[in-house]
Amino acid sequence: MSASEEFDVIIIGAGPGGYVAAIRAAQLGMRALIIDKRAELGGTCLNVGCIPSKALLHATHERERVGQLLGAEAAEKAFNLDAIHKHRNQTVKALVGGVKTLVGKRGVMIVSGMAVLKSAGETKEIQVGEIVYRAKKVILATGSKTAALPNLPFDGKTVVTSDEAIAFDELPRNLVVVGGGAIGLELGQVWSRMGVNVSVLEFLPQIAPAYDTDVATALEKSLTKRGMKIFTSTRVEGFENGKIKAMREGETLEFPADKVLVAVGRVPNSDGLGLENVSVVKDSRGRVKVDVNFETNVKGVFAIGDLIEGPMLAHKAEEDGVVCVERMAGMKPHVDYNLVPGVIYTDPEVASVGQTERQLNEKNIPFKVGKFPFTGNGRALSSHSSEGFAKVIAHAQSDRILGVQVIGAAASEMIAAAVAHMTYGGSAEDFARTSCAHPTLGEALKEAALATDKRAIHWL
Ligand code: FAD
Ligand code: NAD
Repeated sequence: MSASEEFDVIIIGAGPGGYVAAIRAAQLGMRALIIDKRAELGGTCLNVGCIPSKALLHATHERERVGQLLGAEAAEKAFNLDAIHKHRNQTVKALVGGVKTLVGKRGVMIVSGMAVLKSAGETKEIQVGEIVYRAKKVILATGSKTAALPNLPFDGKTVVTSDEAIAFDELPRNLVVVGGGAIGLELGQVWSRMGVNVSVLEFLPQIAPAYDTDVATALEKSLTKRGMKIFTSTRVEGFENGKIKAMREGETLEFPADKVLVAVGRVPNSDGLGLENVSVVKDSRGRVKVDVNFETNVKGVFAIGDLIEGPMLAHKAEEDGVVCVERMAGMKPHVDYNLVPGVIYTDPEVASVGQTERQLNEKNIPFKVGKFPFTGNGRALSSHSSEGFAKVIAHAQSDRILGVQVIGAAASEMIAAAVAHMTYGGSAEDFARTSCAHPTLGEALKEAALATDKRAIHWL
């Protein structure tokens, strides 16, 4: 076994948490090493998550539009399965290569291999194969993996995770998706657009449970109209003879399936990392416990991203990475985790930030709601995007905006304005007084802010 030179910080995991932490560390003058068991940087997000799923959503959306304009034959010619996967692969390759350049050019050393924490005294020791790397500080950024269901074990062929479902090389006839959250709905829509018969089985009474019921119900209606079959309050019992068995309101349902995508959430990934060698403490859900500085119970060992508490989102992992490193350097940055936006990139998109009506009711916080439909928005009407609405929730007395949800085209882009307003403690009145270019979809948000006070201009 050989020893290498000592680093200021070693980062294990090169997803959006890890690679962003590495870049920030280099910017702050730290000698950094990043290790990932994958050959490529970018983690789940770039390789098998955010980016490939968005590439698939984009390509299949284009296919759908060509089909509507020029017919099914033209759509198949322009966007067959191979072309769609080619677009996915090229997008991933470009971004993964870009990240390698960004990290490498800043002088961060990159190592491929499985990292194991060996000891965590004053100097931490991390083993990769035969080599031991040393650093004063270590950041664990090993992300998450798909949660399994005991009655639907993965076999990598028929019952699969999103890793396989982004790469189907043949179109299944019947795809059953278990879980009506972000992954299930996004990948469900991808394959539904390719002509696959897609049934989504959701355990709770609504899909997209992080959203208010009015948004989730509108989304369900839109996705159903586009061809997906959605079954809420449905409990999966098992998979036998090519059929998923499920129960809904006392009734047994059967779904023929040549592929089953299980997308019921993700769990922190600490397998084989050697946490037990240095006694890092985890919570009851397997997440590494950290303090406000992202430091674990072991001095000098930090953790960020999907591995710790909080929404399992790429942009949250990035914020963690930056703040963790800056705090190591003695700076005192702050992230408001209540204002991390969430998006589901289906057509229509849904986006949210802050608190939902349900959460506010649970806390007995008085609030008022303003809603504005895209049917009252000129840009939406002129671009065949009049489905959906924007919704602003403000405190009943102070008028401070507490939450915003949007369902409609470009909701993912619109939510940024709401995040900015809320970050500066904006009120619905502030939002309503902000000039908004005309005609834009964003005007719907301004109108929703006006509607909290029953004074929307373009709706009765
Ligand atoms: P990861 O990106 O999971 O990276 C962790 C890295 O650590 C991996 O590369 C892994 O190989 C490596 N690793 C693990 N253990 C070791 C070890 N012992 N030694 C060396 N390396 C190790 N989020 C969004 O915000 N927007 C989206 O649109 C979105 N879409 C998604 C779509 C899908 C299909 C999936 C699965 C996820 C999606 N996510 C999305 C979630 C997002 O991918 C994660 O929240 C994000 O990647 C977490 O970043 P991370 O850096 O914490 O971990
Ligand atoms: P999720 O938490 O978004 O959704 C899981 C869904 O499965 C929920 O609706 C839940 O009620 C349901 N469910 C749980 N157990 C079930 C069961 N036994 N039967 C049927 N339904 C069940 O999780 P996901 O979709 O697997 O995504 C994993 C993570 O990745 C999430 O944290 C998500 O935020 C992130 N992600 C984000 C995006 C995005 O930002 N657009 C896209 C994909 C993934």
